[in-house]
Amino acid sequence: MQQELINLEQSFQDSILTKINDPLLDQHQIELWLKRDDLLHPVISGNKWRKLKYLLKHALSLDSHTLISMGGVYSNHLHALAYVGQTLQLQTIGLIRGDQTHALTPTLQDASDWGMILKFVSRTDYRLLRKYQNWHDLPDLPPDAYWLTEGGAQTLALQGVAELASEISLPYDWLCAPCGTGTTLAGLITAVPGHSRVLGFAALKNAGFLYKDIAGLLPEPCHNWELNLDYHFGGFAQTSPELFCFIGQFQNQTGISLEPVYTGKMLYGLYDLIKKRTFKPGQRIIAIHTGGLQGNRGFPQCTDNHD
Ligand SMILES: *Cc1c(COP(=O)(O)O)cnc(C)c1O
Repeated sequence: MQQELINLEQSFQDSILTKINDPLLDQHQIELWLKRDDLLHPVISGNKWRKLKYLLKHALSLDSHTLISMGGVYSNHLHALAYVGQTLQLQTIGLIRGDQTHALTPTLQDASDWGMILKFVSRTDYRLLRKYQNWHDLPDLPPDAYWLTEGGAQTLALQGVAELASEISLPYDWLCAPCGTGTTLAGLITAVPGHSRVLGFAALKNAGFLYKDIAGLLPEPCHNWELNLDYHFGGFAQTSPELFCFIGQFQNQTGISLEPVYTGKMLYGLYDLIKKRTFKPGQRIIAIHTGGLQGNRGFPQCTDNHD
């Protein structure tokens, strides 16, 4: 299985930097680049691979044959995990939030096709699962099984994300990423050069918990990061016509697809902050395109815009 992991790693593309050309950016003398983790792999969503990599290595080193995790019906994390499980010939089990509806979402259909066993759990039970933080914490875990927290939010996940930051050789003032659990941001915080700052955009409403969660994942206190909690559009996976309009315009202008849950909200927020002159003229911003485009199948408004 170690060999299969090496083969899988070799199937990844480089995540390039793309400069965004837009008169608005010129007008404010801001340089904006996207780090294209959406291009890493045709199936595995960018930041989910970054987070899974060292968790998988750990699971394999323990001789685990089953990977168990949790997520929603459009979860990029479960989607990535199911695909990786099939590739590495590991059994995967997904604990899914909510009741089973008559048809599976395209995300869960993929996961099921790749061999993931789907178990639906009530919203209350789902919430309780969040307290199991370590790989062996899940009650009644089978002996050869490895538990991954929601979104892969474990300290081992930070190492893979840190590799993302170390791939960037261009100097920059700000490194931006969308936040769900904040694990990706935590990994970036540990790895950016001394003069650069990290800025996270929360995808959820009332995301003040992120300050504590991110600090808790960091190996030592860091002061090089900030969060913006203002661009949640009403809550996780909530959207608005204005958000879709922005995403459509961005796609037309740059040819780069976004999704409305994470990357669309982050870039909407970034553009808004640039318009409000929050950044100093002359600054260079690098934003991470974390991927997640498979989730667009849950938003017909978005797939309509695809080229
Ligand atoms: C899961 C996800 C995030 C959030 O990552 P966290 O590490 O949980 O903060 C951001 N973008 C995309 C596309 C994701 O799938």
